[in-house]
Amino acid sequence: MKVYLDNNATTQVDSKILEKMLPYFSEIYGNPSSLHSFGKKSKVAFDNSREIIANTFNVEAKDIIFTASASEANNLAIRGVAKAYKRRGNHIITSTIEHPAILNTCKALEDEGFEVTYIPVDKNGTIDLNALKKAIRKETILITIMHANNEVGTIQPIEEISKLAKENRILFHTDAVQTVGKLKIDLKEIPVDLLSFSGHKFHGPNGIGGLYVRKGVRLIPHTTGGGQENKKRAGTANVAGAVGMSEALLDYSKNQDAIHNHVKKVRDYFEAQVEKNIPEVIINAKDGERLVNTSSISFKFIEGESILLRLDLQGIYVSSGSACSSGDLSASHVLLSMGIPEEFAQSTIRFSFGRDNTIEEVDYVIESLKNTVAILRSMSPLWNK
Ligand code: PLP
Repeated sequence: MKVYLDNNATTQVDSKILEKMLPYFSEIYGNPSSLHSFGKKSKVAFDNSREIIANTFNVEAKDIIFTASASEANNLAIRGVAKAYKRRGNHIITSTIEHPAILNTCKALEDEGFEVTYIPVDKNGTIDLNALKKAIRKETILITIMHANNEVGTIQPIEEISKLAKENRILFHTDAVQTVGKLKIDLKEIPVDLLSFSGHKFHGPNGIGGLYVRKGVRLIPHTTGGGQENKKRAGTANVAGAVGMSEALLDYSKNQDAIHNHVKKVRDYFEAQVEKNIPEVIINAKDGERLVNTSSISFKFIEGESILLRLDLQGIYVSSGSACSSGDLSASHVLLSMGIPEEFAQSTIRFSFGRDNTIEEVDYVIESLKNTVAILRSMSPLWNK
């Protein structure tokens, strides 16, 4: 049996979505910026994709910028605002649990003379709103706080943060990569100024993302070239990608309640079975407001990587809590920020469920996990102590 439980890393492109994309590779392949009628056909599809995305967020199409990824969208938001507003101030606020696309961009800006405050989180991974209020200075130009965390699933109070930002005339950006396609997002209700998203997280293609920019927000582009995307992001349009991403978002918005209920049922069943069958586990961020698809579990006294590799041999694909994507085996900055001791952070696995996972798959995973944990613990000097 193959069980894919790494949906926060990426998702399978839906076959219906792939079919809708295919003509834009080999039949309607004109450049939407071309003046000829063949290019115009691509432009119709490209504009329609922008319209679909804007409609799902309840905003205007002209406020959506296509990018090649959410990492790029995050860079454009943070660097773009920093450069455009640097005369007003040089201070940015973020949190300690952001994705590296945010943290490393903030670090790079610190090297350029900007000051960044990193707001801590509580044991459930929720940011400390009082610390955020206290961190605001007259030089603060931007708050960038993620909507939901990719490792533990904690959802941040972005309504309150956007209100606070507005009261203080500070721009608010949110990295919504883990919530677009998982939660309904109405930007009339939550007045964020900038929001990043990525197609491959919700059964659309990789290589396409986007940034919503509220009317009136200034951005200095960091990719210079042609005048595409309203002069904010140069580069030939990825029409097939935009079609795929918008259709995937539309598909989600039509089925969101059913998807939400199914994923929650499967994830909750999984966690109940883990607690019933495996001793000495911690379900991280369990008492916080969490995405219904994410389960971060520390299996005390054994290493997450060892669990991951043994599950892999049994056809089960998960992610460990450490930053292994960069070859770095240090413990996750997210878990450490939540106050989880390093040894438990190192023993953590992230299971991220998707709409196609089933209860039968969970039963198989629980059996494999029970045996894997028992074998590894029998070899662990810490467990034996
Ligand atoms: N932000 C968050 C919260 C993510 O989870 C990810 C991807 O895992 C990214 C940003 C980067 O997205 P992309 O792969 O589109 O660059």
